[in-house]
Amino acid sequence: MLAGSDRPLTMHEVLASAPGVPQSSAYRNLSILAEAGVVRRIQGADDNGRFELAEVVSGHHHHHLICTSCGLMADVRATAKLERALAEAARTAADEAGFLVVEHRFDLVGLCAGCRP
Ligand SMILES: [Zn+2]
Ligand SMILES: [Zn+2]
Repeated sequence: MLAGSDRPLTMHEVLASAPGVPQSSAYRNLSILAEAGVVRRIQGADDNGRFELAEVVSGHHHHHLICTSCGLMADVRATAKLERALAEAARTAADEAGFLVVEHRFDLVGLCAGCRP
């Protein structure tokens, strides 16, 4: 289900597409998968954490658009141009601390097309 989605899913959405699975076992299973590094839980702008496949599993590096008004979370493609700019910015930010960057997480927070004035 997570692999087939073009955005992270809330627990509610996971449950809706898996009728008959008790909430407690769905939550437990996702927690175990998250602990194992297979699933990633993303904190959004609302109280609903969302779940997606970890990038090491999906092989799909991407970023997120997060709407502070309706809570929407959408995947956004990581273009080569964006990735070059982010790698450069990451080096600049980390170099001074002697920190070696191995990956980045970059989410954009704002208003979606339906919520912006
Ligand atoms: Zn919105
Ligand atoms: Zn990236």
